[in-house]
Amino acid sequence: MHPLPPHDLVKGAIEAVIAAGSFASRRGWIPATSGNFSVRVDAGHVALTRSGADKGALSQEDVLIQPLRESLLPNSSAEALLHLDIYEDDPLVGAVFHIHSRAAALISRAHLEAGFVRLTGWELQKAFAGVRTHEAAIDIPIFVNDQNIPELAVRIAEHRAMSRNSNRLTSPGYLISSHGLYAWGQNSREAMRHLEAFDALLELLLLEGAYQP
Ligand SMILES: [Zn+2]
Repeated sequence: MHPLPPHDLVKGAIEAVIAAGSFASRRGWIPATSGNFSVRVDAGHVALTRSGADKGALSQEDVLIQPLRESLLPNSSAEALLHLDIYEDDPLVGAVFHIHSRAAALISRAHLEAGFVRLTGWELQKAFAGVRTHEAAIDIPIFVNDQNIPELAVRIAEHRAMSRNSNRLTSPGYLISSHGLYAWGQNSREAMRHLEAFDALLELLLLEGAYQP
């Protein structure tokens, strides 16, 4: 059991969660109270949106302080487990954001059979930490949607273990088919930059598919 983090760390993390929800809502990424947002408080806790809250108009009471490696608090969203796995896997992750944007839902549906969608040749790819050239190829993994989140989490963990052994660029996010996008970063600013870049690039793929010269 971790000791409770200091008040100012908790406050800062809650404010970052509220700001992320508000930004995503203005972008139209989280219709009908969907999506969820979390920011790391310290080594043992994350601030995480509760189930059912309107993520575009969060109050402090809508953000739970969830200890890592412990069972989910009451009122947690079903997908909280996916957030916690990302933090537990990588101690450098400082924020995880999840949205149900149109481009994420559509592209993940169209590319489900391949199991990934490749980004390559786009200048905007350089928004991802560690990517220096548009020539890089980034494969965003796509998982089949599942209402059984523990089972989905197992499939995601298996994929993570597999890709650790390859020397490909790792994507700071993944898609769940016909559902949405998870993206993360070392802090909330980087996580939001990644989220925004993913969504813009997925939108470009959509437009490119529809565009007939
Ligand atoms: Zn979702």
